[in-house]
Amino acid sequence: MTTSPTIDIKSLQLGELEDKVRELGQPLYRARQIADWLYQKRVQSFDEMTDLPQGLRKRLAEQFDFSKIDIVRVLGSRDTTRKFLFQLRDFNLIESVLIPASPALYGSRSDRRTICISTQVGCAYGCKFCASGLEGFSRNLKPNEIVDQIIAVERESGEKIDNIVFMGMGEPLANLENVLQAIRIINAEWGLGVGARHITISTSGLAPQIRKLAEEPLQIRLAVSLHGATDEVRNRIMPINRRYNIETLLSACDYYKAHKKQRLSFEYILIADVNDSDDQARLLSRHAHRLSAKVNLIPYNSVSGLPWTRPSEKRQEKFLSILRGEGIPVTLRREKGHDIDAACGQLRLQTEREALASG
Ligand code: SAH
Ligand code: SF4
Repeated sequence: MTTSPTIDIKSLQLGELEDKVRELGQPLYRARQIADWLYQKRVQSFDEMTDLPQGLRKRLAEQFDFSKIDIVRVLGSRDTTRKFLFQLRDFNLIESVLIPASPALYGSRSDRRTICISTQVGCAYGCKFCASGLEGFSRNLKPNEIVDQIIAVERESGEKIDNIVFMGMGEPLANLENVLQAIRIINAEWGLGVGARHITISTSGLAPQIRKLAEEPLQIRLAVSLHGATDEVRNRIMPINRRYNIETLLSACDYYKAHKKQRLSFEYILIADVNDSDDQARLLSRHAHRLSAKVNLIPYNSVSGLPWTRPSEKRQEKFLSILRGEGIPVTLRREKGHDIDAACGQLRLQTEREALASG
């Protein structure tokens, strides 16, 4: 692994920047100036921070890394879903997806531009339907690599992002400390200034970390990737369920609910003949009732090399109507840009396979 041992300047909180400038014998307001260059003016080197004394710029450059991530591929066009593939400094690839204004999905108004970002290179959880898990886990992303995805996509697209979902590659709760550090920067008024209610973390069901997150003061939202209403179905497609079964997961969700004002949501990918039966819909309604959760149904996006398919539209509508009939707030994603909207992790996989094939 070739990651640098030095801390990146975009991994620091304002208080940490203040400690640093004090240590360098500078007045405290320098910390705010630095944050302003990083997150408002968005310069790409210490040299460009022209209202800081030369000496300070030099000391900072000696002591901190200054990351930027390179966009190596963009798929899709304006008004559709766009995918961005990034290369990190150690040549690992990650991706983000920019979703244009569309019907409210994660508790936000419909006129929001949402970015779906990655938290790890690969994923260790190996869900059977997911491209991110296919090649295993490489490493956690650092806070700056999480924040940089947003900055890079805003720069490339010229759009202001106002809704953030941690639903890209990786399991956010398995990298909780770095994810929280990044979220504090994303949320802070001296940082990117995105409201906590417009930030959603998605998890495949790491029950102990859900409890930890419940105790965090940040009012961010939580989405739980359920994808099956019984242990039998979940065990078949999500290995994590063998460690934390449905009851363990739901009781962690009860705990979360008791601590937070926000409504939880369940993500439920519809996969033909795996989890799309009427019985599953009824049991899913029961779980959603217990937690006053909202349900987002997502027709499965096929992944090359995997056997799963999405159910017919008729089956999707039937599943939806059962939940509606039980009074559950539920959406069925009928997405735009389906041709490129293959789930997160796929662009990287495809690019790596092409690179292997060509040499
Ligand atoms: N690891 C976390 C967050 C990343 S996955 C989690 O699993 O929740 C983000 C979402 O994309 C999850 O709900 C995941 O189940 C879904 N997803 C993965 N592969 C998919 C596919 N092929 N089609 C549709 N959704 C998929
Ligand atoms: Fe990992 Fe989430 Fe994909 Fe499962 S669905 S393999 S937890 S990224």
